[in-house]
Amino acid sequence: MSEPAPGGPSPAERRRPRPVRPVRRDVASAPFIVIWEATRACPLACRHCRAEARPDRDPAELTTAEAVGLMRQIAAFGRPTPLFVITGGDPFERPDLYDLIRRARELGLSPAVSPSATPALTADALARLRQAGASVISLSLDGATAAPHDAFRGFGGVFDRTLRGWETARDAGLKVQINTTVTRTNLTDLPGIAHLVHERGALLWSVFFLIPTGRGRALTSLTAAESEDVLNFLYDVGEIVPVKTTEAHHFRRVALQRHVLAERGDDHEEVLGLGPLYRDLRRRAQDLGLIGTGRVRRPPIDVNAGRGLVFVSHTGEVSPSGFLPLSAGNVRDRPLPEIYRDSTVFTSLRDPGLLTGRCGACEFRTVCGGSRSRAFAVTGDVLAEEPWCSYEPGSFPYARELAGLL
Ligand code: SF4
Repeated sequence: MSEPAPGGPSPAERRRPRPVRPVRRDVASAPFIVIWEATRACPLACRHCRAEARPDRDPAELTTAEAVGLMRQIAAFGRPTPLFVITGGDPFERPDLYDLIRRARELGLSPAVSPSATPALTADALARLRQAGASVISLSLDGATAAPHDAFRGFGGVFDRTLRGWETARDAGLKVQINTTVTRTNLTDLPGIAHLVHERGALLWSVFFLIPTGRGRALTSLTAAESEDVLNFLYDVGEIVPVKTTEAHHFRRVALQRHVLAERGDDHEEVLGLGPLYRDLRRRAQDLGLIGTGRVRRPPIDVNAGRGLVFVSHTGEVSPSGFLPLSAGNVRDRPLPEIYRDSTVFTSLRDPGLLTGRCGACEFRTVCGGSRSRAFAVTGDVLAEEPWCSYEPGSFPYARELAGLL
């Protein structure tokens, strides 16, 4: 065993819950979360946009009646009902948004909304969302200051509008999730964004690892080693900020490794071979008081594309993730539960035995499985190994300690 990590495991680390949270229902029969792209219309032109959003609504969007039909199909999964996220584009571009939220509530769903920070994000609009029955919104924040954020979003004033919307939403009684896309240009801003999330308070900080799809194709990718450094930094600040990752499923492997190493009192930086980016991010986080608070962290949830997660496009196409353009059917032709439970696209993604490359040989594959969206975007094979993970299967030295956690 190497030297204990500075200070050793904190009291909170000793009493913390399981490092990865399993979904408390059979994800082969019902998803944990359904994300519906209500529209692709959005006045912004964000550099990473998955939807390649455009100014006008597509005439082929689901109509109000079809959207209500979709919500009935989601309710038909039964209890506990899946989380239901209405995203875009900008959902405020749909004039029936409030009505749809009311109908979702009547059907027993708890709708969350992902608006864009446009002039439509007013105090009145947020109050109406709350009155209609939304309880959570998510807002995007890709820089700790206005310059990087507005450059990313393609317009000036978006950063300030986001901070105002954040505050106004909370005043209206809405919980706020903050979404951040990690790119090479905002890496060193991450501690500052974490600090903002901590100071202003948020339900969750969701950190999205880019998929080279949509407009995100033009952005420079991180290396696998840099991803490893960022994930370990996120684990560190997870004691003070509730963190989740999007399209970085190996965060669950990192959480398990860090759990075992903390139990043993091992130096994670040495055992995991972390690099200069990690040290820089950790130092910045330390300077901002974000490390070593001893609070209980939020364990990442074991959900992946098609395995607990399903995406429905603005025209009703069903895919395992919004970043994985593999349609398994359309809700106009076939009920969502049937597509989710029975289509080959979904059933194959729920079988870790079909994964190939390092993911196929990896002892963490049942709780991680890598980003299927990134594998598909980079290689064209949805079951190929995760390109942004540097883990060599079998190389973590404490298999016995892991055994009870996988
Ligand atoms: S090799 Fe694949 S399954 Fe293993 S940790 Fe990396 S991404 Fe996850």
